[in-house]
Parts: sequence; structure tokens; C-alpha cells
Amino acid sequence: MLYLSLLASYSFCVPIQFRSTGHTGTLPSPRSVRTPGSIQLPLQGNLRRTGLVFLGWRTADGTIIPPGATIIFSTEAVGTLALDAHWVNWVWDAGRNVNTNLLYTRVGFWPGQINVYSSVLGPSNPNFPFYETMGIGINAWSDALGVPINTTTNQQNAQLLSFGGEREYLIHFSGRTNIGPNVAGFAEHPPMTAMQQLVIGNSTKTVYRHSGYSRLFNFERPRGNNLTQLIKHEIGHSLGYWGHSTNENSVMWFSLNNNPTLQSGERIHLRQVYQHFR
Ligand SMILES: [Zn+2]
Repeated sequence: MLYLSLLASYSFCVPIQFRSTGHTGTLPSPRSVRTPGSIQLPLQGNLRRTGLVFLGWRTADGTIIPPGATIIFSTEAVGTLALDAHWVNWVWDAGRNVNTNLLYTRVGFWPGQINVYSSVLGPSNPNFPFYETMGIGINAWSDALGVPINTTTNQQNAQLLSFGGEREYLIHFSGRTNIGPNVAGFAEHPPMTAMQQLVIGNSTKTVYRHSGYSRLFNFERPRGNNLTQLIKHEIGHSLGYWGHSTNENSVMWFSLNNNPTLQSGERIHLRQVYQHFR
């Protein structure tokens, strides 16, 4: 009997330790999981590091497990699992909404392939350089995110549906009745699923995964650099830059500024989301 009970006490228990450096707040206490089995990892709680953002728990092989995720041991396991708090620099480029004074707290990304369908709708000026400018905008964001963005002629297969044309025609087509007289274009949210919260300074932001499709509308006025800015701006929204930049020189500034070049803050704002979460 003694032998049997000794055997039973040798379950395959894996101790789990949580580690961090330079933090304030409470590191989760050690725990253990009986394997095969599963365990839910702790949330960030009050753990903080000045100037850095917590992305999850990092294993020795560099895998980052999101806070609150469940890890599953499908077989008997031995040894200790040490998990390091993964702290990163993070650039949050979106400020307050100038109309509502609310803080922008959302950022999104598309998983999988990103296909863009572009079409001029209705009557439009033959000199409206819509398709060329869409190409410039797609290339600029693809470069900024480090992610391929494809064009497609199949609307069913597209995540971004981009429409260009005369203002009243596009507004009518969109079915919207709340487009103000100063608006030169707009983008619609696709369905979005909250993936993870990020504590940045004193506020909490949420990263969303997009699904379905996002429609963006680009009016044929303005022209020149402002048109390029407008089209890049609406593409930026549809790719997940929800909100507007705090930098008045940014393409994602809330109004036209004649600057068609993506600035470093707005590039990084979205790039880090695509690089970490996609
Ligand atoms: Zn905007």
C-alpha cells in the first residue's frame, strides 16, 4: 500500500514561475499544473514598468503567451516552466477626437491575406486619378506595416472595398445620412473582435482583430497632395488605424494638411500591431 501511494504522489506536476525585472506592482505567485492538464495564466494585474507596455508571458524559446490565455499540456511533462513578463516599447500615435474630446482607444488589424478591391462609382471627372492613387496608398502602407497588401478585381475576395467618385453619388451609395459638408472621405469599421488590452501610460487601449470587410469612400475632390493624403488616410483607417494622429503633419491628422507622406509615428502605431498580433 505504501508503494502505491508513493507512486500516486509522483504525478507530473510542472511548477510555473513568473519573472520580471524593473517592474512595480505584484508579480503573480508561483503555481503548478498537473499534466496532462491546463492552466490559465494570470492577467497583468497591477504589474507595471515605466515607459513600457506588457504584452504577455514569454517562454524560454521566445513564444509570447497573451495574458489570461490558457496553456494546455497534452502529455505528461516534467521540469519547471519559467515565464518572463514581456515588456516592449510602444508608440501610441492617436490622440483625442477633436470633436468629442474622447481619447481614441482602439487599434485593429487584419489576419491572413489583405486584398483590396477598388472601383470608381457613378459619374466622375475623367481626370480623377483614383486607381493610381490607390496603388500609391497601398504600397505606402504595405511598406509601413511590413505586410503584403494585394489588389484584387474580385469584390467577394476583398477585405478593403475602396470606392472613388463624385461626393453626392458616393454618399448616396454608402447609405449614410450623417456625412458633414467638410468631409472628403470616410471609412467604415468592419466587424471587430477584441483581442487584448494594452496598458499604455494611464489609459487602457484595446487591440481588435478585423473580419468581414471595410468600405472606404474617397471623394474626387480634393486633388494633388491632398487627394493622396485623403486616400492614404482612409486606407489607414480600414487597416486598423482607428482615430487620428496627434501630429499635425501626419497623413492620419484629422483634416487635410497637403502632406501625403506617412510619418514615423503613424507608421509605427499600426506596424507594431501587425508585427505582434497578426
Ligand atoms: Zn479620419
